[in-house]
Amino acid sequence: MKTTVELSKPVLAVPSRQGLTYYVKTFGCQMNEHDSERIAGLFEHDGMIKAESLDVSDVLFVNTCTIRENADDKLYGTLGHLKKWKEEKTSRKLLVGGCAAQKDKELVRSRAPWVDVVIGTHNLTNIINLLNQSEDWGPITEVLEEIESLPTDAPSARESEVSAWLTIQIGCDNSCTFCIVPSVRGPEISRRPSDIVNEATSMVESGVKEITLLGQNVNSYGRDLKIDGRSKPYFTELLTKLNDVENLQRIRFTSPHPKDFKLVTLEAVQNLSKVTNQIHMPLQSGSNNILRKMQRGYTQEKYLEKLQLAKDTIKNVSLTTDIIVGFPGETDDDFKETMYVIEKGQFDAVYMFKFSPRPGTKAADYEDQFVIKEQIDTRFMELKKVQTDISHVRLQRFIGTKQSLLVEKYSKKSKEFMTGKIDGGQTTHISANNVKIGDFVDVEITEATPFALKAILV
Ligand code: SF4
Repeated sequence: MKTTVELSKPVLAVPSRQGLTYYVKTFGCQMNEHDSERIAGLFEHDGMIKAESLDVSDVLFVNTCTIRENADDKLYGTLGHLKKWKEEKTSRKLLVGGCAAQKDKELVRSRAPWVDVVIGTHNLTNIINLLNQSEDWGPITEVLEEIESLPTDAPSARESEVSAWLTIQIGCDNSCTFCIVPSVRGPEISRRPSDIVNEATSMVESGVKEITLLGQNVNSYGRDLKIDGRSKPYFTELLTKLNDVENLQRIRFTSPHPKDFKLVTLEAVQNLSKVTNQIHMPLQSGSNNILRKMQRGYTQEKYLEKLQLAKDTIKNVSLTTDIIVGFPGETDDDFKETMYVIEKGQFDAVYMFKFSPRPGTKAADYEDQFVIKEQIDTRFMELKKVQTDISHVRLQRFIGTKQSLLVEKYSKKSKEFMTGKIDGGQTTHISANNVKIGDFVDVEITEATPFALKAILV
């Protein structure tokens, strides 16, 4: 069964599941986390209440990922366990969305026929409609191949009261050979600047202090739009508009692509008071040979040039990157090139991944060049050791400095401490005495561990 949906508006029926509980289990990236917040918002609009755990929930949404290591195995293992969860209470509803549902809808159906709704990434706002239909007609699958326009006003239930994701673009026009995003999320589509500014304004009115702009390639934002006769309202212009949103305190963005970084954007980061001095520049590999095979569109030399430009343009910039260890064909010499960039770059943090083939990507076909697991593990440990030392040294530059801290939540380890981020994005702990969630406080940094800072109020 297939329904027709109006994509620019979420389908918001009269609340019909008053008092039932829901739980959303999310795998994967920030885009999925943000989609999960939108799903939670739609469930709450339908009258449901968030459950403490999936064990006590009536409706469960599993937001799937196909990118991370062993993602498929984890997903089908999870769905296998959830068969028992469904059987414990016949009224329970199990819904599956996200990238695996988009890419492998038939496989999800055949391996887990007990799933009530399989929904793709392009039509999430139709979730309540599909849930209603599954109650009337039984299991339903709706996966659209293309999106016509971006949803503008779906409600969200945010994990944080003070910090929020704001999607500015979906999809990607690049073709990195390890990545499934272009085939499951489609080509780049940018939201209109006015919709983004309006959403930021209403977020601020509901208590949000910090927004993180979200897209697969944010610094190519807008090249598909035609506004006022111009074809490219640059990302920089969007940052400028958002910087003017009253009472918004901080703006972050992720993920940019190194090849699309322009000086004008770096200057905007330096000059716009609300845009934080934090740049994530995903390298993936330092070897030109591997970068070519990854189809990343830059060389080591070009990357280092952009990195230097960021360091020269943005005062006290905090830099982070991503590395994939063991891409097919990676030799010891290739890995040495990566370590060269790591040493030279002196990043604040590196997000490290071991290569694992994702079905449907080009790299999955390079089977004859796969690097053996032990080799990947050894390289990964070397990278981790070197970067842990660099991160620790980098964090020590903050000791004794005054910073502005946004208090976000209680520390996971102790209710006596609260946790937030300073401008550069570094996680910082502070005594819970005299501060509360949402406070922007002036602090002095007193200590640096390899992964976080400690501070006192000044
Ligand atoms: S830029 Fe490359 S890695 Fe990033 S989403 Fe697009 S294809 Fe994937």
